[in-house]
Amino acid sequence: MKIIERRELKPKPAAGTPLGFGKYFTDYMFTMRYTREKGWHDARVEPNEPVAFDLATCVFHYAQGVFEGMKAFRRADGTISVFRPDRNWERMNNSADRMCIPRFPAELAEEGLETLLRLERDWIPSEPETALYIRPAIVATRVMLGVHASTEYLFFILLSPVGSYYARGLQPTKLLVEEFYSRSSLGGTGEAKCLGNYAASIKSGEIAEEMGFDQVLWLDSAEKKYVEEAGSMNVFFVFRGEVATPALVGSILPGITRASCLQLLADAGYPVSERRITMEEVAQAAESGALSEMFGTGTAAVVSPVGAFRYRGKDHVVNGGKIGELTARLYATLTGIQRGALPDVHGWNKLLR
Ligand SMILES: *Cc1c(COP(=O)(O)O)cnc(C)c1O
Repeated sequence: MKIIERRELKPKPAAGTPLGFGKYFTDYMFTMRYTREKGWHDARVEPNEPVAFDLATCVFHYAQGVFEGMKAFRRADGTISVFRPDRNWERMNNSADRMCIPRFPAELAEEGLETLLRLERDWIPSEPETALYIRPAIVATRVMLGVHASTEYLFFILLSPVGSYYARGLQPTKLLVEEFYSRSSLGGTGEAKCLGNYAASIKSGEIAEEMGFDQVLWLDSAEKKYVEEAGSMNVFFVFRGEVATPALVGSILPGITRASCLQLLADAGYPVSERRITMEEVAQAAESGALSEMFGTGTAAVVSPVGAFRYRGKDHVVNGGKIGELTARLYATLTGIQRGALPDVHGWNKLLR
């Protein structure tokens, strides 16, 4: 793979600096381009520096673009591991199909990522709760205002050392159940990790934050009756021994952390029901004490306990606002596997030296 060196490296955040989420970016990025004539080509690792675009570039107008999020970890012996990148490439190609973006060869993206990670290994933090967040994306780059699929695209991968996704770390989050706006609907793009889904969600997220909540909990768009997911996490409930998560009905993002947690819960003897879950059922279970735990799952948020939610103006507390036993165990198991402290029986870690 072609590597274009940069003259000067950026200063890295000093050890112990709170990294937050997506605030620091490394020295290099991976890029490749697509044109109709050449397909995907010109794959290279180059300095991560501002790039100039014509303002009529179609992604700025119609949001034809997709992205991904995964994490890399550095172990004490220097080994770098990436958690299930094959699943992210597969989902990214599914998202691309939905957005009329040409599929890319996953092997080429993986080779680009590995070249980038080897070059940037010193940026991978190793303190607990930190990781190197990997942000691949594809954007439509043709200069045109006609509403059509672009004929040119840019694929890129950025790297960002991160700490906890939420400012309060593993403290249980507070969710506001969104009863008016929708993030996605059946036949829409909720299943794809595309730019527009987030654009549609920002207003609710800002309102929730202003009211003191960490994120929104989305309901189905048609009836506002069934739980779908939280802003950037899939959600799980523990009802008197039954672990349940909303079934992937087409408007919910199929999370890789969700799939991994389903497997880990099954391994530990807790088969999970994937079913339709009404918000009424959740609120009633919280009232009666039948809802013992609630948590979100996502690459950025890992396994994140939910300590409270507001629905129809009423506040409900989950497990006294404390992290639940199963949530804590799942967090420890997942991060233990990712960091090499626990055996990786399912072969989820892609290791590179
Ligand atoms: C990315 C994302 C998730 C989590 O998916 P993971 O693969 O677990 O990171 C959940 N919901 C939405 C809307 C997302 O964009």
